[in-house]
Amino acid sequence: METITRRSLAPLMAAGLAPRPDWRPPNIVIIFADDLGYGDLGCQGHPTIRTPHLDQMAREGVRFTQFYDAAPACSPSRAALLTGRLPVRNGVNNVLNPWAQGGLPAEETTLAEALKPRGYATACVGKWHLGHRPQYLPTRRGFDSWFGIPYSNDMSKATAGNPGFIRSLEQHPETGPLPLMRGERIVETEPDQSQLTRRYTEEATRFIRESANRPFFLYLPHAMPHHPLAASERFRGKSRRGLYGDVVEELDWSVGEIRRTLRERKLDTNTLLVFSSDNGPWLVKNEEGGSAGLLREGKGTHWEGGFRVPAIAAWPGRIPAGLTAMAPASTMDLFPTVLAQAGAEAPAGRMLDGQDISPLLFGRVSTREDFALFYYGGQVLRGVRAGPWKLVLPARAVEKPALYHLEHDPSEKYDRAGAEPGVVERLQAIIAEHRRTLVPGPPQS
Ligand code: MG
Repeated sequence: METITRRSLAPLMAAGLAPRPDWRPPNIVIIFADDLGYGDLGCQGHPTIRTPHLDQMAREGVRFTQFYDAAPACSPSRAALLTGRLPVRNGVNNVLNPWAQGGLPAEETTLAEALKPRGYATACVGKWHLGHRPQYLPTRRGFDSWFGIPYSNDMSKATAGNPGFIRSLEQHPETGPLPLMRGERIVETEPDQSQLTRRYTEEATRFIRESANRPFFLYLPHAMPHHPLAASERFRGKSRRGLYGDVVEELDWSVGEIRRTLRERKLDTNTLLVFSSDNGPWLVKNEEGGSAGLLREGKGTHWEGGFRVPAIAAWPGRIPAGLTAMAPASTMDLFPTVLAQAGAEAPAGRMLDGQDISPLLFGRVSTREDFALFYYGGQVLRGVRAGPWKLVLPARAVEKPALYHLEHDPSEKYDRAGAEPGVVERLQAIIAEHRRTLVPGPPQS
């Protein structure tokens, strides 16, 4: 197996990984769960949640063991997925509340916008959370259609369960009920959340059936398993893990429906299907939050449990069955990877933080040399990963950074900074260079 570096990618692509010009561009389906933890799937080792469809998808495709989001919270994570850029560059650093004026800046190019010149039909089904004022809606950002909620499912008086958010709501009495939208119209308010996964699945499979004659991009960011949890009658009370398990098992059913529809329409062998989560589990929800498995902490933190999530990709005939990819990768890699497979152009003049991981997806390489990932809470840099090492920057200047060997110590238990001063120095140099060259995005409003 060769090692992937930025320099070695071009010849690898030239050696047959790039699509031939006469091929119909592949369909792209990205399913994004909300707050699903690293340990919440059967194939990720959960002892009592059953996920037969995702487990099968992993057996027939590739499962990543070190796959990252760019942020441990909803809006910045989604902005990074859809632009291939760090939140600090694309300008979405924090979660957008219902009273926010802003969204993903118009200067950014979304994956849907980048695919449009290649003739793609595009649909967003589910939670958007990149700005709910008209100019920021999915229909203005490259998606032909949208059915879903504009922000999180707990962002209204009727659904809020978080004490801090409830206090903020009191200062914003203008906040309305949770809207369910089709295109740019509100079609319902405070929808029955137990029906959302089922309704999204029906909408998504209909889009697949109706788009069978042209390449399509389906972005399916589920509302679940973000709090408040809700499952339909068919799944409620059925899991050994309680309501959280019911919700995840319904999401798994949904993945099975998407895959079945692709197979029935004979589209599966020309479709790259990716499943992942926008951030780690919401641990403050106690039993109603998910599990990061052996990783430390969860959502909203700079620890691995906040950033590292399940990721499975399938493309029968192209991705070898049963592959386990242990090289680090991130949601930001999907943007350049999808563009390469679609034969689409990357936006000019925009620095991408992801890279084309087609060779990793297709099992041509197994390692990645120059990976570096920066961790932000808002715009605050809290760490960097390079190779197996992660340097965690302290919250207060008086404290020292900590160093973890993530491949020996995925739970971040043993600080190796004292024993490895050379590694600390090398990672600090990466941070210094990053800070020196960073051009931050506009301030978030
Ligand atoms: Mg989330």
